[in-house]
Amino acid sequence: MSKDTVFVLKSVNYSEADKVLTVFGKYLGKFPLFAKSIRKINSKNRGNMQTLNTCNISFYEGKGLPILTESELVYAPDTQILKKRIDEIARVLGMLNRILQEYDPNEKVFNMLVSISKRNFDIVSVNRFRTIFLKEMGFLADFSVCTICGSKDDLKYIDLSSFALLCKNCYSKAGKGYKLKDNVYTDESFTQALDMYIKRVIEEI
Ligand SMILES: [Zn+2]
Repeated sequence: MSKDTVFVLKSVNYSEADKVLTVFGKYLGKFPLFAKSIRKINSKNRGNMQTLNTCNISFYEGKGLPILTESELVYAPDTQILKKRIDEIARVLGMLNRILQEYDPNEKVFNMLVSISKRNFDIVSVNRFRTIFLKEMGFLADFSVCTICGSKDDLKYIDLSSFALLCKNCYSKAGKGYKLKDNVYTDESFTQALDMYIKRVIEEI
């Protein structure tokens, strides 16, 4: 019997009563999980293994997909708030489902994911998470320095097409870029540029 703490990324119905889940395990990374009879009303795992929930699970590995046996709920975000965060959630799940490789664990990404679920996927947490995730996966250069001169000062500008930060000096020289608001993570243009950048990363994988 194997164990892990997992975040449920995806849930697809299979036959009459079963589901195939995609989970992101703290120790095992992303993997598929066969949840037998989970759609039956008396299934103990039914409520626990909802998309966006975090659970401790036991499962066994046979010939096919790993098979869920037991689950214990660790955290479930507030469903009332989630109804207003559909776009934010889609941004996170789309990115993780497409970019994470199977059985490639990353504890830092896992812990951040659980922590943004505790913040009910507000846009600041989601954008910060997406930026750090891209960096962790090697899709984003150092996001704390100017892409041209390497300076750490006055990083108030972004080249929206390449999704790279520019300092004030390089911005005036390059003649392109967009001035970010004080909190970049709430900036609508930053969010859109990040959406476009992630779309490009996914297309290139
Ligand atoms: Zn610079």
